[in-house]
Amino acid sequence: MKNENFPVYRGSLEYSCLGCGKRFSIEKLHYTCPECRGVFLLRNSSFDDLKKTPGSKWREIFDARAALKVPELRGIFRFYELMAPVLEQQDIVYLGEGNTPVIPASRDLQSRLGQKFSFKNDGQNPSASFKDRGMACAFSYLKKLVREKGWDQVLTICASTGDTSAAAALYGAYIGPPIKSVVILPQGRVTSQQLSQPLGSGAWVIELPGVFDDCMKVVEYLADNFRVALLNSKNAWRILGQESYAFEVAQWYDWDMSGKSLFVPIGNAGNITAIMGGFLKLMDLGIIDSLPRIFGVQSSHADPVFQYYQANPEKRSFSPVKVKASVAQAAMIGNPVSFPRVRALAEEYQKKQGSGSFQVVQVSEQAIMEGMLLANRNGHIACTQGGECLAGMIRAKEMGILDKDETAVLDATAHALKFSGFQEMYFADSFSREYGITPRKEYINLPVQILNQQDREGMSEEEFTRAAADRIVETLGLDREMF
Ligand SMILES: *Cc1c(COP(=O)(O)O)cnc(C)c1O
Ligand SMILES: [Zn+2]
Repeated sequence: MKNENFPVYRGSLEYSCLGCGKRFSIEKLHYTCPECRGVFLLRNSSFDDLKKTPGSKWREIFDARAALKVPELRGIFRFYELMAPVLEQQDIVYLGEGNTPVIPASRDLQSRLGQKFSFKNDGQNPSASFKDRGMACAFSYLKKLVREKGWDQVLTICASTGDTSAAAALYGAYIGPPIKSVVILPQGRVTSQQLSQPLGSGAWVIELPGVFDDCMKVVEYLADNFRVALLNSKNAWRILGQESYAFEVAQWYDWDMSGKSLFVPIGNAGNITAIMGGFLKLMDLGIIDSLPRIFGVQSSHADPVFQYYQANPEKRSFSPVKVKASVAQAAMIGNPVSFPRVRALAEEYQKKQGSGSFQVVQVSEQAIMEGMLLANRNGHIACTQGGECLAGMIRAKEMGILDKDETAVLDATAHALKFSGFQEMYFADSFSREYGITPRKEYINLPVQILNQQDREGMSEEEFTRAAADRIVETLGLDREMF
């Protein structure tokens, strides 16, 4: 069905290699450069056409579009012209992703920490993490290819720390044949909630011994040698979709990014790449007039990007690290696929906005866990990676690199429920040594047993109600006087 509200502009996207600079047509599915194996970003070679429209007009267009009831433009494609302006309306798959709320931290939490800040709850996406942003884009592009080429079977494949597979399986299941999802997971290294997601969506779930980096190598081998569609963030379509986070943040703050600092956890570094890329696009079109500062956050148990930027600029060289167990499990990656993208974009970012505009801080496992617990005790729904952002903000304050007058925006990348197992381990003090986490009493919360099954035996229902109520009155010290 034609919709008069659907944008008419079409761009010309190309894969652009960060290694050799060559460009390739999007007619073919590419993950890495066929010439030099470098990673790609998607570039619109007619991007300059968009500059004919002034920034103020773009702001109006996007603000007006936010009120439309066209499903295909409700999510990440609200920013269609900046996203993938090669898709037709019929290609776009929308499952309610994007447009996630920015929630100011509770008053107590802000005053306790002495900082204005908010969480952007990307756990309120359909599969409960930000990965849906990228999958919506990647699957929409796949739908376009299937439509144009008449393929009768497409196996999508990804390695995952949990959330990528949940998102891939969800979108794959919704679209259905000819698409079928396969996900490869490190055994025992995803939470049971995350494992239940692709299983529930009916994907093929394959477990391998090892960590994420091991699974990734297997997936890459398969993608290089067989007909499968790779859905890891090597896939530049995912990065493109994840840029929507930046657009939404800018729009939420009325396109005024001055005095804003964003905190983003880094795993494979796709998300932070996309966020920087998104803001650079907005700057280029005059939609915003300054870039927000970006703070990447890494755990000391998986910190290759921190280590790189930590070194003296002349002596920097990237080397993967061997990861240790981390509660920020979704970011437990020693050899981030998108590192070359981060390096390229951070350079561009710093050129425009100064060296302080992109930084990486390192936090401890203890601080990450307590960041999550502290946030959630104050009415938030942060996962461990969201806790990592809070820990990162606290760390940046300690280091004196975050000003009291700045407003911080913390990426709560997934829903707290996906990572409740770590909360349980904290409360039960059952972390293995490797994590290096010692629970503190003030954060522990356990259910209170006031009667057990034995006490109940022989009681009538009435007696039981009274006995239970009496114990509760005693435990809580309730007052007889009513309101
Ligand atoms: C994937 C993921 C990350 C890490 O993002 P990258 O793009 O790999 O850097 C952080 N948090 C959650 C919840 C994730 O699922
Ligand atoms: Zn190349």
